[in-house]
Amino acid sequence: MRIAEIFQSKQGEGMWTGVVSTFVRTIGCNLRCGFCDTTYASWKSEEGETLSVEEVVERVMQYNTRHVVLTGGEPMLNSELIPLSRILSGLGLKITIETAGTLELPVACDLMSISPKLSNSYPWGATDKDVRLHETNRKRPEIVRKLIETYPYQLKFVVDEPEDLLEVEEYLKSLEIARPERVYLMPMAFEVADMNAKAEWIMSFASQRGYRYCPRMQLVWYGNRRGT
Ligand code: SF4
Repeated sequence: MRIAEIFQSKQGEGMWTGVVSTFVRTIGCNLRCGFCDTTYASWKSEEGETLSVEEVVERVMQYNTRHVVLTGGEPMLNSELIPLSRILSGLGLKITIETAGTLELPVACDLMSISPKLSNSYPWGATDKDVRLHETNRKRPEIVRKLIETYPYQLKFVVDEPEDLLEVEEYLKSLEIARPERVYLMPMAFEVADMNAKAEWIMSFASQRGYRYCPRMQLVWYGNRRGT
C-alpha cells in the first residue's frame, strides 16, 4: 500500500483527543476538498513509499503505542486496510479509522471517525473533472449510516460559517440514527487565531443541540505542520 508517513503523535481531534497514537497516513483520495490540509497524501501526491501490510505492521509496532490511527487521504480506498486493521487489532492495538464516509470495507475498528464533507468543501479553482468527481462522491449518507450501525463512531463536521450549521442539521436528519453526543463540530482553520474566532458561535450551537465543539488541538500543540 502507498504510505505517505508513519509517525507518533497525540490525537488532536474528537473523543480520543490527547491519546498518544501511531498515525499511518495512506496516499490517495476520492475527494478534492478545497480546504484539504493533507494534499501530500491525497490526489496531488507523488511521494511516499509502497509498503507491504507486514512492513506497515512492523513499523507501527516499533512505536510501542496502544493506539493506532489509520488516516489519509482516504484510507478506505485501500483493500489492504482489511488485513492491516485486523492484524493490528489482533496484536491488541486500539484502532481509529479516519474517513470521509464515502466508502466502506470490513475492517477491524474501535472508533470509526467519520467526517462527511459539506458543500463548504467545494474545490474552488479545480478542473471541471475534479469538481465533478468531488461533488459526485462527497455525500454518501447510506455509507455513513452503515458505518454507524457497524462500528463505535464519531461524526466530525468541518464548519466555516454559521450557515453551515443548517447543512449539518439537514445531514443529520437524513441519517436519523446519529446520537447527538457523537457529533463534533470542528472549525475550518489552519491557524489557532482562526479557530478561536469561530469557537463562540460553534460552541453556542453545539451546546443547544447536545453536540460537541471540537477544537483542532494539533494546531495548538504543533501549529499547521506535517507529521503531527
Ligand atoms: S477527504 Fe480529506 S484527504 Fe481527501 S481531499 Fe478531503 S480533506 Fe483532503
